[in-house]
Parts: sequence; structure tokens; C-alpha cells
Amino acid sequence: MADLLAAYRHTTDNRAEIEASQVCGCCSCVAIFPPDDIVAWSGIDVSSFDDPESLTGGTALCPHCGREAVIGDRSGYRIEPGFLTSMNEAWFQRTIIRKPPPKT
Ligand SMILES: [Zn+2]
Repeated sequence: MADLLAAYRHTTDNRAEIEASQVCGCCSCVAIFPPDDIVAWSGIDVSSFDDPESLTGGTALCPHCGREAVIGDRSGYRIEPGFLTSMNEAWFQRTIIRKPPPKT
């Protein structure tokens, strides 16, 4: 649970981390793909638009579903279906399973 919260932060403003990753996954559609597949980024600082190489910032958009839900293995998390499914359930289906409070 705390892990999922921490991992979620890696899905935004993650351009450098994604580009340094070997493999990425999407928490929305649970696709796994190489960072090269990502063709769109949001939130890029366009003040230096004349020089695309110097663009900073940016949040990866999933090449399959277009959502800002991409995490790379450089984040320290293993990008595998079980992990992505947990993230998907927590953030997109809103079904974090909490322990029921102890009965008194
Ligand atoms: Zn996706």
C-alpha cells in the first residue's frame, strides 16, 4: 500500500527516469513496453521549444491508452504484470483493500 503510493509518484514528471529505464509499464492498461515506444509526453517546459534536445520535464503518456500512468524500471520497481495490476486496481479501479478495523 505505501509502496503503491510511492510508486505512483513515479508516473508523473518522469521523463528522465523513463528514458533511463530498460522497460516501462502502464498502470492503466497494464501494458509492458520499451521506453522507445513512448511517443508523447505532457507537461514539457516549452520555453525552450526551439531546441528539442534541451526540453526538460515531462510526463510519459502510455503509447497504448494515452494516460499518464507509465512507470519505468529505473524507479526501482520491478515492471511486471502483478505489480502493474496492483497499481491499476489501486488507482484506476479504486479498490485498495484495507484490513477491516478490529471488532470491539
Ligand atoms: Zn496504458
